[in-house]
Amino acid sequence: MNTEKVTPIKVEKVAASRIEQVDFNKLTFGSVFTDHMFVCDFKDGEWQTPEIKPYQPLALDPSARVFHYGQAVFEGMKAYRDEQDQIWLFRPKDNFIRINKSCERMAMPVFPENYFFDGLETLLKLDEQWIKGGDGNSLYIRPFVIATESGVMASPSNQYKFIIICSPAQSYYGGEVRVKIADHYSRAASGGIGSAKAAANYGAQFYPTSLANKEGFQQVIWTDANAHEFLEEAGTMNVFFRIGDSLYTAPTSDRILDGVTRKSVITVAESKGINVEVRPVRVDEIIVAAKDGSLKEIFGSGTAAVINPIVGFGYKDERFELPSVDNSYASLIKKAIVDIQYNKAEDPYGWRYKID
Ligand SMILES: *Cc1c(COP(=O)(O)O)cnc(C)c1O
Repeated sequence: MNTEKVTPIKVEKVAASRIEQVDFNKLTFGSVFTDHMFVCDFKDGEWQTPEIKPYQPLALDPSARVFHYGQAVFEGMKAYRDEQDQIWLFRPKDNFIRINKSCERMAMPVFPENYFFDGLETLLKLDEQWIKGGDGNSLYIRPFVIATESGVMASPSNQYKFIIICSPAQSYYGGEVRVKIADHYSRAASGGIGSAKAAANYGAQFYPTSLANKEGFQQVIWTDANAHEFLEEAGTMNVFFRIGDSLYTAPTSDRILDGVTRKSVITVAESKGINVEVRPVRVDEIIVAAKDGSLKEIFGSGTAAVINPIVGFGYKDERFELPSVDNSYASLIKKAIVDIQYNKAEDPYGWRYKID
């Protein structure tokens, strides 16, 4: 992207790439990282010169604030290679805006736009060979910010690191997903940090999710923390319900993450003539719809899987299985989004962003 300011970036390349050691047909999501990483330090009240250097461990003081008070936020985005060997991002400006919103909520400094885009593009060009073409292949990009100042006094850090690491990914298939509707634990409360992509939101989900796993559910559908009456998110994804021929999803709020995939799903569904209602979705209306057969689909939306169909759910002592439907909205909408991401379809919304 042509940004007005020229970002000075210090680049140190690896002596030898590790790419030959990687089996790209057997990737476990998020376990292998590319040759380089982007790092920018914040100190003395400003972001310093960004660096790209060989992927390597960090040295942090044991008293660094991130370890004690959880000032840590992140993003998740992907780069795609099309059939003409061009590299694309999908709506990256939204991720940039969102990481800065997350930073503000966690009392962390915002990051300059030209550093983000110039850093990311320089990094992707250096590690371009790690972005494989073909169905479902992509490079998962993980920008994150951590508080690095030493000292265990409970106050915001004055020093941070903004880092971007990248991990090659294959198409994401997590097997059949059944979810448990939360009736006790909560992911987020009004006025809390649910709409920030804060590391702490994930840490807080692991325990209730592991309890649900023991009951045979892969994920939890989070409900409002007040009365557990409204359906808000599915695991780490936004959630959609199809009743009859309409799609329902909760409005964003300070308890719900404003997903890039969520809003893309809404736009694409509407363009296909599907009625989408963005309004609070009650647990009891879903139970009624499951019983009378009008509940046709449930799916989660997020960058990793785009759309993840949910085949059944549990609520208190009851279990429900969803019927299998032909021409599901999940597969129709997923294909439309993936075709835009991989430059296989027109992009009427201007969502693709070229790396060159
Ligand atoms: C990241 C995330 C999502 C999905 O956001 P995308 O921008 O679509 O990837 C949804 N819910 C939560 C809680 C998340 O952290």
